[in-house]
Amino acid sequence: MTDPNPRHDYSGRRALVVGGSIGGLTTALLLRRLGFDVSVFERTPGGLDGRGGGIVLQPDTLRWFHECSDQQPEQVSTSTHYVQYLGVGNDVVHREEAPWSYTSWGTFYRALLADFGTRDYHLGEYAAGFDEDEDGVEVRFVSGRTERADLVVFADGISSPSRTRISPGTTLDYAGYVGWRGTVPERELSPATFELLHDSISYSVAPHTHITLYPIPGPDGGLAVGERLLNYVWYRNVAAGHELEELMTDKRGFASPVSVHPGQVQDRFAEEMRRTAAEVLAPAAAEVVLRTEQPYLQAVRDAGAHRMALGRVALVGDAASAARPHAAAGTAKAAANAWALHDALAEGDGDVADALAKWEPGQLELGQRLLHRVQEMGARSQVSCTWTPGDPDLRFGLYGPGH
Ligand SMILES: Cc1cc2nc3c(=O)[nH]c(=O)nc-3n(C[C@H](O)[C@H](O)[C@H](O)COP(=O)(O)OP(=O)(O)OC[C@H]3O[C@@H](n4cnc5c(N)ncnc54)[C@H](O)[C@@H]3O)c2cc1C
Repeated sequence: MTDPNPRHDYSGRRALVVGGSIGGLTTALLLRRLGFDVSVFERTPGGLDGRGGGIVLQPDTLRWFHECSDQQPEQVSTSTHYVQYLGVGNDVVHREEAPWSYTSWGTFYRALLADFGTRDYHLGEYAAGFDEDEDGVEVRFVSGRTERADLVVFADGISSPSRTRISPGTTLDYAGYVGWRGTVPERELSPATFELLHDSISYSVAPHTHITLYPIPGPDGGLAVGERLLNYVWYRNVAAGHELEELMTDKRGFASPVSVHPGQVQDRFAEEMRRTAAEVLAPAAAEVVLRTEQPYLQAVRDAGAHRMALGRVALVGDAASAARPHAAAGTAKAAANAWALHDALAEGDGDVADALAKWEPGQLELGQRLLHRVQEMGARSQVSCTWTPGDPDLRFGLYGPGH
């Protein structure tokens, strides 16, 4: 699919994208529209579509499907009509009409990959290093593979090894809390809990903690009410240092700074989490948590790059800046980075480094603005306890509350 009216056509030029998740695939699809011959390299050896987890959808994330794909946004998303806050007895303390749509990582990934195709999508390739010379960029993989291209985009996520090279000194900072995550089939909920939760994004707020719940596509992509999963993120404070390290050590003894996968959380931590859910959350939210077979964990961390471009090499998505999830805007920012890159290249004269230099300042600003906003939101929930039901400043949005 080639853009009908690009100002510059890059046919005959090659682009590599490192990292084949939502940011990487969106970038790859858009670069291909400009005429680039695009290859994606993803470190995970098997298919990635088993990754679960919900994503609140924002316009930038869906833009590919609105403007360029034969697949419609409704085919990859679920939706609800209301935002509500639940009190200690399941009473609705605030409710407003505010439609949102959601997807699961797996559903969205499968849809993007269906548009990109698997021919130029290479699994099991971990990029270890790169160098640039006058003719282009060389990327080296631990497999021994070496690839050259005119443009290289790193979309290699929150732990991006390339970030340290492009933006030296940028650190990945722990926010002071973790997100307990999980999903439960809607049909396994009690009728009262299903009735209360199925058409809303729901919050339960207690001192120094809050949980967000919303319905996402089922494991096979089922979108109908009753076929979906109820997905949640429950934010809980954990002190940095040995307490966090112990929690983030999985059943096999591997410690991760970022996540512990489903089925790998130590039993004693899952049991403590369930006990606390019953004590502090609204009963409907607690029921969802208690019915989760395999809860998993993400340590909430921020990183804000001060560079996103180095010659003909770019960083997009979480690789550039990762912002704690309170604005539900991580994938939207990754997609916005990709669209802006597309536009900068299309409007340029074919000089890739020049286009990247023009693209960089606006994207740095977008990342920094989001980072500051979500840090304030996080402090209101987890520190100062001023996260009040219905406050418009707490609405999701990449560019500001609600948009
Ligand atoms: C608790 C939580 C809730 C969230 N909720 C939302 C939400 O509701 N809405 C939303 O928009 N965002 C949300 N996010 C953020 C969202 O998950 C990220 O912003 C998004 O996944 C970033 O996409 P990405 O493509 O940049 O990176 P990633 O999805 O992290 O992908 C990076 C890819 O690169 C690969 N990779 C890494 N290193 C290499 C290498 N050296 N070589 C090759 N491949 C490599 C990885 O395997 C991975 O596939 C949430 C995040 C968290 C932690």
